[in-house]
Amino acid sequence: MKQVSDIGVIGIAVMGENLILNMESKGFHVSAFNRTVDKVEKFVEGRAKGLNIYGADTIENFIASLKAPRKVMLMVKAGKPVDDFIDVLIPLLDKGDIIIDGGNSHFPDTERKVKYVESKGLLYIGTGVSGGEEGALKGPSIMPGGSPKAWDAVKPIFQGIAAKVDGGTPCCDWVGDGGAGHFVKMVHNGIEYGDMQLINEVYQIMKDVLGMSTSEMYDVFAEWNEGELDSYLIEITRDILAYKEEDGTHLVDKILDTAMQKGTGKWTGTVALELGIPLTLITESVFSRCLSALKDERVAASKVLTGPTPNFSGDKKAFLKDLGAALYAAKVISYAQGYQMMRAAADEYKWTLNYGSIALMWRGGCIIRSRFLGNIKDAFDKNAELANLLLDPFFADKMKAHQSGWRKVISTAVMNGIPVPCLSAGLNYYDGYRCERLPANLLQAQRDYFGAHTYERVDKPRGEFFHTNWTGRG
Ligand code: NAP
Repeated sequence: MKQVSDIGVIGIAVMGENLILNMESKGFHVSAFNRTVDKVEKFVEGRAKGLNIYGADTIENFIASLKAPRKVMLMVKAGKPVDDFIDVLIPLLDKGDIIIDGGNSHFPDTERKVKYVESKGLLYIGTGVSGGEEGALKGPSIMPGGSPKAWDAVKPIFQGIAAKVDGGTPCCDWVGDGGAGHFVKMVHNGIEYGDMQLINEVYQIMKDVLGMSTSEMYDVFAEWNEGELDSYLIEITRDILAYKEEDGTHLVDKILDTAMQKGTGKWTGTVALELGIPLTLITESVFSRCLSALKDERVAASKVLTGPTPNFSGDKKAFLKDLGAALYAAKVISYAQGYQMMRAAADEYKWTLNYGSIALMWRGGCIIRSRFLGNIKDAFDKNAELANLLLDPFFADKMKAHQSGWRKVISTAVMNGIPVPCLSAGLNYYDGYRCERLPANLLQAQRDYFGAHTYERVDKPRGEFFHTNWTGRG
């Protein structure tokens, strides 16, 4: 077998197939393999026909077709399939060869696999790949981390196939050691959950409080997509609102209101709790999906539990402006929280993360791509040590400009009985973060009262702890 391929991909499903075609279109020779070999044959005879793609019928032939150092990218279901393939690959590969996991693996697993594969003399990359089917084919956002020595070998391929912004800058750069790439992808997915839920909340307000038709809502999203909210998710929401079935009715109105999830949002919330980071907005977005899934209970409860009947008598045009402001301001909070979490993880796992570069990787190719990420990149380029995105002058000004509308939207939603868990979680974080004195003094007193947990005093140096016998009893 002649060693001709620049890279090999295992996993001929939605992502793997499209990534292979993308790589080939950029001039790379690619080998393909799949557990179910029939799918390789079908691919080679179908979409890959006539292209520089070699479909291997055995894993041995697949490995033999790769140029050294061999680069094998796994695009299979996360979890056990990745572990199983690693164990199959290790004895077939030579020192310095690279195994890449491009699936949605959980970062602690990747952290462990980097060490395991390196202990066998090989190199390992765990990379986030975002953008779904279209991204994989036309240019995804790629977030690689793992063995730093592997980066130079895969860089031309990854940066070659990644989405490009600002006239050619690739949305792919080295993220960091260990599981850093998959961690950043996890945060990306969490932010995606938050962005989606925020859009859903303003949609419900438009529909149920303002009584807007689907076509009227389409116009608003179309207008928003031309301004500071310009993003992939606003754009597809606009298009979803325009989509009609053959009978002329809007499809969106007929879709069951129970959200599903695959788990990356839940991971983000769980990890935030473990790191002690108030990632409230994203976590609420996960809970919102959980609440939506309780459809039968909600239907039963809707017949028992009362609340206000939505009624809006204000200036609709002005309120729509407030809605846009609320969406933008809450979105800033979600990213501020996500970046706060990345900073905490970098400390915990000893990663050196480049926050501006992460914003750049998310600028194009992925689901959360937006104009706004350019401003985030600028903020971290100006100050790499920025403790919180909210403290960047650009975003601090935005919060000043948008908060009045944001507060009006939340109070209107509350008075009309419309749930706004993410819009309000964002505002609560904002008001908490800017609050010089929170009521945690009372909380500390409570803890000391029942558990002798001690407290610090404002009139004594930090680090000195006190206990009071609150009841006077011995
Ligand atoms: P997928 O449906 O997650 O997985 C299908 C692939 O995994 C097939 O090649 C399948 O082989 C293989 N596989 C499943 N179980 C296996 C096992 N026990 N042993 C060996 N191989 C096994 O495919 P996908 O949607 O293309 O996603 C690939 C990865 O990218 C996943 O980690 C996914 O979470 C991630 N991802 C997906 C998207 C998306 O939009 N789909 C976006 C970003 C990231 P067989 O054909 O033999 O069953």
